[in-house]
Amino acid sequence: MKLKISSWGLRYLAYGELDLVKEATTERNWMRAHIPHLIRPVPFLWVNWKEDTLKRQSIESALQLYDSLSDESQEFKNFKKYQWFSAGELEKLEPEIGDKVNQGGAIYYDTNVDDARLTIETLKEAVIRGADVISYCKVNGYITEKDKIIGIKCQDLENNKDFNIKGTLIVNATGIWSDDLLNNYPENISKPLIRPTKGVHLIYKRQHIKNENCVIIRSVSDVRGIFVLPRDNFSIIGTTDTDFKGDITNPFCGKEDADYLINSVKFHFPNAKIGYENLVATYVGVRPLVKEIGKSEIEVSRKHLIFFNKNGLISIAGGKLTTWRKMAEDLFEMVTKNQIFSDKTQVKGFSKQKFLIGLEQEEWQESLNHHKINLDDKVIHHIYQQYGRGAIKIMKLIEKEPNLGEKIIDENDFIKAEIFYILPHELTTHLIDLFCRRTEMSLFIDHKKSSQAAETVADLMALEYSWSKEKKKMEIRHYLEYVEKTVSFI
Ligand SMILES: Cc1cc2nc3c(=O)[nH]c(=O)nc-3n(C[C@H](O)[C@H](O)[C@H](O)COP(=O)(O)OP(=O)(O)OC[C@H]3O[C@@H](n4cnc5c(N)ncnc54)[C@H](O)[C@@H]3O)c2cc1C
Repeated sequence: MKLKISSWGLRYLAYGELDLVKEATTERNWMRAHIPHLIRPVPFLWVNWKEDTLKRQSIESALQLYDSLSDESQEFKNFKKYQWFSAGELEKLEPEIGDKVNQGGAIYYDTNVDDARLTIETLKEAVIRGADVISYCKVNGYITEKDKIIGIKCQDLENNKDFNIKGTLIVNATGIWSDDLLNNYPENISKPLIRPTKGVHLIYKRQHIKNENCVIIRSVSDVRGIFVLPRDNFSIIGTTDTDFKGDITNPFCGKEDADYLINSVKFHFPNAKIGYENLVATYVGVRPLVKEIGKSEIEVSRKHLIFFNKNGLISIAGGKLTTWRKMAEDLFEMVTKNQIFSDKTQVKGFSKQKFLIGLEQEEWQESLNHHKINLDDKVIHHIYQQYGRGAIKIMKLIEKEPNLGEKIIDENDFIKAEIFYILPHELTTHLIDLFCRRTEMSLFIDHKKSSQAAETVADLMALEYSWSKEKKKMEIRHYLEYVEKTVSFI
């Protein structure tokens, strides 16, 4: 799981990676135009802290460059250009940092996204456009003919059955697991390919930090930038960036990671009341960075790499969540160049189309006028921004059965109708996936209330899937064991 910022390209300016900044911001602007419900503009505050060696002029130059790289000769533009504010003005915009520590600063705009929803919505879009999608299946090996890969050997993890899929081209796009499936490496490719680095995030109720913007702070123990990102009633603090040697499938936050983030936030927000006792949740991701010899973990480029090996397997690795479309199109271009499918060609930029599952705010308002549902405004906004066109289906469910508008937990905006929408539309047979990979319930429901939430959601799943009592118990236990590990350092 990721920090949920698209594009967060600013940090790459420091490494002179202007092409990467341009790529990320261009993609961010395209997504905001074409998947508007998911990609939300957020004001970022770059404070000129008194302890910083950077001066106003350097910050403004960086932001001018950032804005112009994103907007110049581009079809889609950023939400707004940056603006500079004096120390006094900043005190009003971000009261908790106070005027003693800052020498003014700039607000610029990036966007925020729910990464799991972006993945699911993209898969649904692909299905609408003709793709077949399977889930809960593991690739264990390849079918080869005369040394060429012509298919994959799969295992259905739900039914423990093996099966094969054949195809003209097999793509290895498995992120941090890329090395597991690379059966041989071309000469110019590092072996192993992936340099996994761990990124930890903490979530608190916003009232305990009171940040108004996404504030960039400096870590008090090194020079890294950390974000304090507002999300409705919550603040997400992230992230760390350390080489990771543990189990990449199950990374968890440790005491050292949590303290690193907490101490830095407390230094810049002196009144913040954040400790272990009021921590809402933690989450961790492992970055699939492409290995570059001789570079530290924060210097490793976020560029992507695409290459064929001698068995005809094509691998795509590295990159960012924000650049997923460009990565896919670059891969397609390479496939076209290699004439794998002689009958399939596309013009450059062909994938920059409007998402059919996307929903404009005005269209959402209009459909709200046609349905008689009684939900509070925050919940209405929540289902719009998470589900786009799917929100209309959720509304219809509530119209038919008003009690599906009930909340899973009083203090959050997640409602029961979401579950009944997700189950038939989003290939979800496990409780943990509903909490972690379909919704953001695992992040924003206080870990102390996760048992109550898990019971409620498991009841709904049991109804839909006719689960036995034992099956329901097992699913709850599996999820709660995960939650326990996310806060085991407390
Ligand atoms: C802490 C952190 C913060 C980040 N912040 C940002 C950010 O703010 N903005 C941004 O743009 N990017 C960010 N990123 C980067 C971004 O999240 C990643 O680059 C991106 O998610 C990688 O996507 P992927 O599809 O390559 O890999 P994944 O999302 O990991 O997908 C790989 C898939 O392959 C499947 N798989 C693996 N092995 C097999 C197998 N044998 N058989 C079948 N399936 C298999 C896995 O189940 C998985 O679904 C962040 C990353 C981290 C870790």
